[in-house]
Amino acid sequence: MRAMSDQILDGKALAKTIRNQLRSRLETPADRPPGLAVLMVGDDPASAVYVRNKEKACQKVGIASFGRHFPTETTQGELETAIDALNQDDRVDGILVQLPLPAHLDAIALLHRIRPDKDADGLHPANLGRLVRNEEGLQSCTPAGVMRLLQEYDIDPAGKNAVVIGRSILVGKPLALMLLNANATPTIAHSRTADLAAVTRNADIVVAATGKPGLLTAEMVKPGATVVDVGINKVGDRLVGDVDFDGVREVASFITPVPGGVGPMTVAMLLYNTVWSWEKRMNSGRS
Ligand code: NAD
Repeated sequence: MRAMSDQILDGKALAKTIRNQLRSRLETPADRPPGLAVLMVGDDPASAVYVRNKEKACQKVGIASFGRHFPTETTQGELETAIDALNQDDRVDGILVQLPLPAHLDAIALLHRIRPDKDADGLHPANLGRLVRNEEGLQSCTPAGVMRLLQEYDIDPAGKNAVVIGRSILVGKPLALMLLNANATPTIAHSRTADLAAVTRNADIVVAATGKPGLLTAEMVKPGATVVDVGINKVGDRLVGDVDFDGVREVASFITPVPGGVGPMTVAMLLYNTVWSWEKRMNSGRS
């Protein structure tokens, strides 16, 4: 039986609203526009699509792009030199290293090298530490996009059981902290969780971030729950999430589609973070 108010959490529409808000904020004349540098290494086709989307989105709102595309054989030293230059460049407010990187490179060391106040993806330990302490700071774009989507639809996590499936530093862990900071009671499930269905059935909010297509099925969801699908998986030539959308929408009251849910919100939050850093720098006179 379909839940009474089955409702799609429309990330595509909200991302557009956020872009429009940012664009109008940038209409006021300023010394310079915000600047974002996305660094990509190698030729991973999915990464190339993501980078192109990010640059197109920057263009739409009036953020200058300083991105660079490096060949696969680029060394750690060359990337460190590029990050150092961007750290010093006063036209740049955000720096992002597109993951995954080729295996010979140390991604963590590169993320640590980015100046925390230009860390557009919120993955520097200083920014993750701020999140742990519930202090203001740059926050990881995908989990921040999930939180913004919940807020838009008046889904207040306070007092709710929230289950995040996936414990990556990119999505699962920071999202569980954001839900905790919003007064939910979060649980993190992962590949070693003994009885995943027993955990998810207890959740008012379930977020799947595993990269396993069809992992979350209708029997695993409490009727009326909110279901957020972070997964992006290619199955044949279709893009699908981690949630069995057709089955789960029958029991959930809110659900994100893939595509058109969390993906566009990730890009919107990247733009938001860049403009946020820019405003801080402009206000402190470091234009
Ligand atoms: P990851 O591979 O780093 O982590 C996957 C997590 O899933 C792990 O913590 C693992 O323990 C858990 N997991 C794997 N199999 C499981 C199972 N059977 N049961 C329970 N838990 C299981 O991945 P990630 O970087 O966190 O990304 C997760 C997914 O989200 C991927 O599909 C990725 O493409 C997608 N993603 C989407 C966006 C977006 O903008 N929508 C952004 C980042 C990642």
